[in-house]
Amino acid sequence: MRPARALIDLDALRHNYCLARELDGGKALAVVKADAYGHGAVACARALEGEADGFAVACIEEALELRRAGIEAPILLLEGFFEADELALIQAHGLWTAVASWWQLEAIERAALERPLQCWLKLDSGMHRLGFDPRDYAAAFARLSAVPQVDKVVLMTHFARADELDSPRSAEQGAVFAQAAAGLPAESSLCNSPALLGWPQLCSDWVRPGLMLYGATPFDRTQPQAQRLRPVMAAESKIISVRELGAGEPVGYGGRFVTARPTRVGVVAFGYADGYPQQAPDGTPVSIDGRPGRLIGRVSMDMLTVDLTDHPEAGLGSRVQLWGDEVDVAALATHCGTSAYELLCHLKRVPRVYKG
Ligand SMILES: *Cc1c(COP(=O)(O)O)cnc(C)c1O
Repeated sequence: MRPARALIDLDALRHNYCLARELDGGKALAVVKADAYGHGAVACARALEGEADGFAVACIEEALELRRAGIEAPILLLEGFFEADELALIQAHGLWTAVASWWQLEAIERAALERPLQCWLKLDSGMHRLGFDPRDYAAAFARLSAVPQVDKVVLMTHFARADELDSPRSAEQGAVFAQAAAGLPAESSLCNSPALLGWPQLCSDWVRPGLMLYGATPFDRTQPQAQRLRPVMAAESKIISVRELGAGEPVGYGGRFVTARPTRVGVVAFGYADGYPQQAPDGTPVSIDGRPGRLIGRVSMDMLTVDLTDHPEAGLGSRVQLWGDEVDVAALATHCGTSAYELLCHLKRVPRVYKG
């Protein structure tokens, strides 16, 4: 069998969820959209089900996958519904829906709702993506609350720059929210992972941690709370071939890397079709049998190459970690000009092996 795999540590996932709740002190929806950022939504939701106050996903397809797997906890659709006829399924499966635009609100007013419906009314506090204009927010709240079957409305907004710890933007968005929500009798939900870790004063009744659950920091610098996270995924494979080359030899496609000295090259069964960034430059950190090593040569679809010259004990069958507890996924992302979010979500083809 091909040795590439993603080890998923569910104890670490629970640890990170508990940290999110401890930092905030309130209730936390575990965000498991995009197949739990590549970790497997059903397995992660099952692992958290005893603990979590609920889950959040991007769309009804993702919510139904969880319901089909027997997850009974509340599930919030972060973008609400895309078509009005989803409301029947939302009702049938007891889902919570975001309401972010007038057409969604009007669809709820028109629908023949048979059961109580919980809605999360989204304010655009400055990200300018989804949500109601602050000037319309109180009116939208009043109309939604007036729908007989709408039994609870939670106020919600989303930060655009909470990962920028020096930016005044999150505090400004918080102030816009506070003003638009003033006097509205409802719980509220503001914080994603970077806000929860970096701007705890902005957290309210509900937080919505995603990335941090998976143990990756959203920041580009050391941050005390983020240091308490435990990585959940370890992407690993093995060395399947070793080459001894003299100086001046090219390695891989395009001959991007040329040996400057006699070099032992290890070929690892993991490539960009598994989700490793193809743009990773020479020198990108890897871990070889638990010791720091480096990538050399262009990443191929199914393989990549590492420098074994300073790893005399390593050889055929040696374990190589691409990211995980030995190679920080956020640092790897920075190295490759991408984000931890994208790296984790891009995992594919590789079997996931769960423990804990
Ligand atoms: C994805 C998402 C989150 C989670 O964000 P992280 O940065 O991964 O914690 C929270 N809220 C909304 C509305 C989202 O779309």
